[in-house]
Amino acid sequence: MLNKLEKFIKNQIDLNGPMDIGQFMSIALAHPKYGYYMKQDPFGREGDFTTAPEISQIFGEILGAWVADLWMQMGCPESFTLLECGPGRGTLMVDMLRGAKNVKGFHEAAQIHLLEISPTLKKIQGEKLFPHRPIWHDSLETLPTGEPLIVLANEFLDALPFRQLQKTAEGWQERVVSYEEENGFVFALRPVGKALISHIPSHLHSAHPDGVFEIAPARINFIRNLAAHLRENSGVALFIDYGPMRSGLGDSFQALKDNAYAKPLEDVGNADLTSHVDFEALAQAAGQEGLQINGPVNQGTFLQNLGIGLRAQKLKRSASKEQGSDIEKSLHRLTDSAQMGKLFKVLCMRCNNGSITQTNPAGF
Ligand code: SAH
Repeated sequence: MLNKLEKFIKNQIDLNGPMDIGQFMSIALAHPKYGYYMKQDPFGREGDFTTAPEISQIFGEILGAWVADLWMQMGCPESFTLLECGPGRGTLMVDMLRGAKNVKGFHEAAQIHLLEISPTLKKIQGEKLFPHRPIWHDSLETLPTGEPLIVLANEFLDALPFRQLQKTAEGWQERVVSYEEENGFVFALRPVGKALISHIPSHLHSAHPDGVFEIAPARINFIRNLAAHLRENSGVALFIDYGPMRSGLGDSFQALKDNAYAKPLEDVGNADLTSHVDFEALAQAAGQEGLQINGPVNQGTFLQNLGIGLRAQKLKRSASKEQGSDIEKSLHRLTDSAQMGKLFKVLCMRCNNGSITQTNPAGF
């Protein structure tokens, strides 16, 4: 039995033919009524996945110190835009603000802006961040201008749509989603134009048969739009996400439900859909837009450079034995190379248009 969202997608495919993975993902996540992000709170132990800020408060507190440090490097502007993209439950922002609360003038200067699509999550963010009077945005276009900005995005870009190209005996084709009465939603291949193929880096053109290359025009466009804001107002953006340092081959389309991997084309609308973020492609786009780049570096390296070990030791001193062991476990999960430490990368892009001074941000 198809659910309502699946019926909607099937109808679209009946009308227009197979859809690319990006279209499928957009509908599955963001359909105004039945999309995954429109319905539920996907986080935490009882949710579908757990993110770094939900693992430990140390993550956000350390990033708060990072933001405050940048703000001071900028000469402590009286007012600046502190934007978080895809803030989830608002945990990272709350922890960041707490981490920076002893920095004189910081709270007064930080104007909190949130880019968020999910009504359920907006409500949770509003409850948590109420004293800071956040302003929500559906797109970057409505951001204020005339003051510098600092942007953070943890596990945001992976949620934006991507597409897949597959090498076949006839050359590159696009991997699309089709529907068969007996099998439900299935992957299929269709011819692809030169424009998309031009995204494939030249060293991957001679890919082995069945090799898959993922492109994400939506993510690149997001970086380009953000770059325009950073150029105009000057500022810094930090992206933390999972994915490779270098563009490569591989099918990373994944669905997460109840903290376990699920099949991306099954139970559509009830699982989170993502793919790995191609950090080389992002850095390249930011570079073309005239931004300065730091990283990508591994999340483990970044957090160690920012002193996460010391911070954990300090917290442990005033913790019970049980809390102490929780702190150790979280530290391990965030930084160990077999856990999130290596799979997750941190990439910083910034533009200093002359009005503020900026040296290299901490952590790189
Ligand atoms: N940063 C949070 C949440 C990550 S999940 C954390 O680390 O816990 C992805 C977040 O991005 C969610 O808040 C989701 O609702 C939001 N999101 C997904 N697609 C979006 C889009 N197109 N525009 C704005 N927000 C989006």
